[in-house]
Amino acid sequence: MEKFDVVVIGAGPAGSTASYLLAKEGLSVLQVERGQTAGSKNVSGGLLYSKPIVDIFPEFWSKAPVERAITNHQIVMLGNEASTSMDYYNETAARPPYNAFSVLRAQFDPWLAKQAEDAGAATITGVTVDALKIENGRVVGIQAGPDEILADVVVIAEGTRSLLLKNAGLREEYHPHDVSLGVKEVIALPESVIEDRFLCTSETGTAYTLVGSTLGIEGGGFIYTNKKSISLGVVVKIDSLYKSKKQPHQVLDAFKSHPAVARLVRGGEVVEYSAQTVHRGGFHLASKMYGDGYVVAGSAARMLLNNVLTLRGMDYAIVSAAVAAKAILAAREKGVYDAAALSVYEKLWQQTVLYQDWKTFKDAYPLLENQRLFEMYPNLVCNLMEMLLSPSNQASPKALKALLDEINGKVSMFTLAKDVLQISKGIVL
Ligand SMILES: Cc1cc2nc3c(=O)[nH]c(=O)nc-3n(C[C@H](O)[C@H](O)[C@H](O)COP(=O)(O)OP(=O)(O)OC[C@H]3O[C@@H](n4cnc5c(N)ncnc54)[C@H](O)[C@@H]3O)c2cc1C
Repeated sequence: MEKFDVVVIGAGPAGSTASYLLAKEGLSVLQVERGQTAGSKNVSGGLLYSKPIVDIFPEFWSKAPVERAITNHQIVMLGNEASTSMDYYNETAARPPYNAFSVLRAQFDPWLAKQAEDAGAATITGVTVDALKIENGRVVGIQAGPDEILADVVVIAEGTRSLLLKNAGLREEYHPHDVSLGVKEVIALPESVIEDRFLCTSETGTAYTLVGSTLGIEGGGFIYTNKKSISLGVVVKIDSLYKSKKQPHQVLDAFKSHPAVARLVRGGEVVEYSAQTVHRGGFHLASKMYGDGYVVAGSAARMLLNNVLTLRGMDYAIVSAAVAAKAILAAREKGVYDAAALSVYEKLWQQTVLYQDWKTFKDAYPLLENQRLFEMYPNLVCNLMEMLLSPSNQASPKALKALLDEINGKVSMFTLAKDVLQISKGIVL
């Protein structure tokens, strides 16, 4: 039976990072990916934050297939036929070390996987790992079809569904409550149209985070500019979607037909459609990261931050895998790969800035549950703007009176105060 120092399951950002770093240190690494190519099965909005990963992949922007450096962020509330935006622009995000890049996973993931291959990892694609091979309670390798492959340690980087962990009884059941569904389209548009419409240059781009117009289902939308296309999608709470009896594409259609969105996608051609589950990103949902003979990295360990303003999964995947690789190298020094030796992974992870950010925004999670945030308040804000900006044949109120008039009968002062407190606790104070 074949044996490697390390077998890595999955060639997403987590798997390829672990393979790259371990192969670079001279370990024999086998990486197994079920997609025909790395990235072919992966869905992402596509905003990759640069600073958290620059130490792992220095100046990656000059080598990797990134699309645009994001200099402009728009936070948009969608009312019935109106929208209210907050616009943030920063010129420094157009130069190293940048802030974020739009990426297309079908291009970015193969590049990452190639880094691992070039470092000496053996990568096989189009092969699904069917099960973890477990002996005496210890993970000793993998089973893929008729093949069994042994390893000192297995890196499980199989993404959100993490069926291998589930089937092996190594993780608890996920509650539908804690999972969202993301539906995404890539819409082709000429470069010149993107640059005019989104006010960017040939190298820079815009990211929109939008709340509202998701048929009242808790969640939000995103639009990111690529070079010759835009990535557009919605991420909604899965159990509310089921309860609404709506199909994912109906939510996407409702979102796309909002006038503020429709004018951004006008004339575009949908060239890709995909859907995937994604964790809701709660700090309290952190999963078991290691055990005898294995470590879990990226979204298989539910590592993702969603604080309403940003959704960060790719940098969490890359950094967690880098920390896992460090833990494996430390265990190798001792020549033991049991849970005790690999527990250093968790300790090192807790020292990262990403872990601290996750913890800092732990109270943002209830915001994702608050239905009023996704329908009533975006409408309320848009109506308020209407009162302030559209003089009519009735006397105009001042802002506070307009706000109180707007709130009246829609939400009680008590509920409003509770929601303000929840928002403050989640992302402000
Ligand atoms: C709609 C949507 C929008 C998102 N937007 C963003 C964003 O803008 N920015 C951001 O940072 N994050 C975003 N995310 C989250 C991000 O995509 C994930 O957090 C990230 O991809 C996790 O990386 P990973 O390597 O852990 O897992 P994945 O990228 O899911 O990779 C897992 C890999 O394992 C393979 N695999 C699974 N099972 C097996 C098996 N049994 N055998 C072999 N191979 C297997 C899969 O094919 C896959 O290639 C978004 C997610 C969704 C769904």
